[in-house]
Amino acid sequence: MDAAAYITANRDRFVADLKEWLAIPSISGDPAHAGDVRRSADWLAAHLNAQGFPTVEVWETGTPQAPGLPSVFAEWPAADPAAPTVLVYGHHDVQPVEPRAEWDTDPFTPVEDGDRLIGRGTSDDKGQVFFHTLGVRAGLAASGAAAPPVTIKMLVEGEEESGSVHFAGLLRARRDRLRCDAVVISDTTMWAADVPSMCTGMRGLAEVEVTLRGPATDLHSGSFGGAVPNPLHAMASLLAALHDADGRVTLPGFYDDVVPLTEAERELFARLPFDEDAWLRTAGDSRAPHGERGFSTLERIWARPTAEVNGLWGGHTGPGGKTIVPREAHAKISFRLVAGQDPVTVQEAFKVWVDEHTPHGVAAEVRVPGGGVRPCFSPIDSPGVRAARRAMERAFGTEVLFTREGGSGPEADLADILDAPLIFVAVGLNGDRIHAPNEKVELPLLLKGAEAAAYLWEELATALR
Ligand SMILES: [Zn+2]
Repeated sequence: MDAAAYITANRDRFVADLKEWLAIPSISGDPAHAGDVRRSADWLAAHLNAQGFPTVEVWETGTPQAPGLPSVFAEWPAADPAAPTVLVYGHHDVQPVEPRAEWDTDPFTPVEDGDRLIGRGTSDDKGQVFFHTLGVRAGLAASGAAAPPVTIKMLVEGEEESGSVHFAGLLRARRDRLRCDAVVISDTTMWAADVPSMCTGMRGLAEVEVTLRGPATDLHSGSFGGAVPNPLHAMASLLAALHDADGRVTLPGFYDDVVPLTEAERELFARLPFDEDAWLRTAGDSRAPHGERGFSTLERIWARPTAEVNGLWGGHTGPGGKTIVPREAHAKISFRLVAGQDPVTVQEAFKVWVDEHTPHGVAAEVRVPGGGVRPCFSPIDSPGVRAARRAMERAFGTEVLFTREGGSGPEADLADILDAPLIFVAVGLNGDRIHAPNEKVELPLLLKGAEAAAYLWEELATALR
């Protein structure tokens, strides 16, 4: 039986099992649901066992004093000990459901409506984890083999929707068990149901906060104005100097480590059906696109780094006038980073740059609220991405294009700590209303995901050898 026929034959069972798992309200952000997150882990562990994974373990996180929520680990060794090893990452926890009144159906009583399955976690991320379990079986049914052509490991996290607080620690502690040649991430989206695509990267983040100080107190502007430095003027000049006339960030060295877009990638981005006016409406009815000269809107949001002033305050902002030279000015700034950039390097460069751009008589202080988020990136010509693209194209019967995504969660940790390339194979849609009321998934796409997963292992077995 070929993989597609196996999937069709097992569709009803797959949907019934998925519904059972979705009914467990594994909301990791709400301590009252910690027991449900555990039940969800146990349910998945039992299911993976029943699907044939010889090793299945529920991994606790955190410490006995401050326990976290469990991940599920499973392993199915290839028959050939020399075969590559691939780790699948997803998560079994879900977002809260508020506002509850905006749901048309009970979020934890999944309902089929035509081709749609509606309920919390259908797309993000239980549905997308689940297509792998069907895909593995379909691949085995097609090959007639008892074991997959690569060693498959699965790591399904229980804290992704609450910040993955223990995830990097878990990866470090279990690095030996998690050793792999590539990581398949199934927690992203495609461009559209009829435009299958693969994500190839996520931007990272670096945040900074600047305070500029002038006089020890606010001063009367009649008595002192024009004769001492005004910190708000200094801040305005500083922030204005952060971009040049072409919209490029002026921090020295900012672009040095950026992995440039290849012509092939730009050409593939340009083939995505993109309606800029419609996109502007989704961008809060923005009146015009704006950004770094020489790049399209999609290139700007996916593949170019940015600096944004997020907040700016100081002096008198209350009712009426107040004629002062203010003592302080403040700004919060964040940088979106792309492949090759490091948040700490950017934060350090910003400190140096502020020092050099602060006028005499003004004291600058740069606060760094955290280490930021590293970007992640998979080159489209890497063997793993090419193999996964072939698997997707076999399942969808059409060309698969490439996208990138905005947010970045545990993906960069997976790539860095496990020292393995990332491959994004996912079938969610931007219209799935993830994190929102009436989350849904398109069942035909989940089944295509299962089919792609069925082909993925043989494609990767050849490509990664
Ligand atoms: Zn997710």
